[in-house]
Amino acid sequence: MSALALYVHIPFCRSKCAYCDFASYPHREADWTRYFAALRAEWRSWLPELADREVGTVFLGGGTPSLVPVERIEELLADVRAGARLAPDAEITMEANPGTLTLEQLRRCRAAGVNRLSLGAQALDDRLLRRLGRIHTADEVRAAVWMARQAGFDDVSLDLMYALPGQSCEDWRRTLDAAVALVPEHISAYSLIVEPGTPMADWVALGRAVLPDEDEAIAMQREAIERLERAGYARYEISNFARPGRMCRHNLVYWQRGDYLGIGCAAHSLLGGVRFENPRGLDEYLSGARRLNAHRLSRAEAMEETLMLSTRLCCGMDLRAYRAAFGVDFFETHRAALDRLAALGLARVEDGFLRLTREGMEVQNAVVLELID
Ligand code: SF4
Repeated sequence: MSALALYVHIPFCRSKCAYCDFASYPHREADWTRYFAALRAEWRSWLPELADREVGTVFLGGGTPSLVPVERIEELLADVRAGARLAPDAEITMEANPGTLTLEQLRRCRAAGVNRLSLGAQALDDRLLRRLGRIHTADEVRAAVWMARQAGFDDVSLDLMYALPGQSCEDWRRTLDAAVALVPEHISAYSLIVEPGTPMADWVALGRAVLPDEDEAIAMQREAIERLERAGYARYEISNFARPGRMCRHNLVYWQRGDYLGIGCAAHSLLGGVRFENPRGLDEYLSGARRLNAHRLSRAEAMEETLMLSTRLCCGMDLRAYRAAFGVDFFETHRAALDRLAALGLARVEDGFLRLTREGMEVQNAVVLELID
């Protein structure tokens, strides 16, 4: 049985960023202790079902896991180790906001077993960071990387965002160059999605924030691919780039539809072909609701998900594995659509994999729709 990926959601933030629609809660310090007790109890409740599983990756995400007292992280990871078989080479990632870190805290996280740090930099431009409502400056990102190295982290990832209001292509180039200068092992570059109900959505609606148009956003994505590849980062997923051997193993489990267990509020799971989720709301989680909307995926749903997720990866969808899983020769059943997509330069089949081209990845949803039965 393949290793299990464990996701732990820590939903606390110092303040809410203008674009954020994640399950994250500022000003809930009074609930931190209760939340971690609930989280640890939830983890323990799973142990009888995980007796024969090895945990290959752990991801502490949020929210801002680096905001809470480091003791909470230490206790949590001690519980994970005590309760489950953790792979000797387990990847243990913690998301961190550069505005919340100290060297001492990072040293303790490293000693507790965290071996990968994912820093939410978003931009290396104070004007844009302020506009996004981030609590840190570009210099704090630089300081965070320096502290991470001092604390012994040899696997650091930077999250960046483009297509921001008021961001030019030149601004984005400067952010990319500044990120590369920090020599992280991994870079994620996401296009800003303006979610309804966020302050950013209101500003856009009122004309107070003007977003780059679609062509500019695509130009920025291409800029990222070119600059990062030139700097030695291979693109391995639509928005993710890594130095050799430094892909995020935890996220690969999602894209490859491996088994993962999510604990904490808003955490999703896929275990043995069954999807379920915890409540999104902190209060609902604290009141004990768990494992909602459990649903065993039908064969058709699993086939669709496989297509949707694996075509995000540059290595593409493994057609042999697809046939082994579903008893269908995808190439044969979709020959006409594949020919059309190939003629448009959007996808190709090579070495037994269905891969989207760079242009295909820019319109991945539309390509997938062409291929859905
Ligand atoms: S730090 Fe992340 S989770 Fe917290 S408010 Fe900002 S975007 Fe949301």
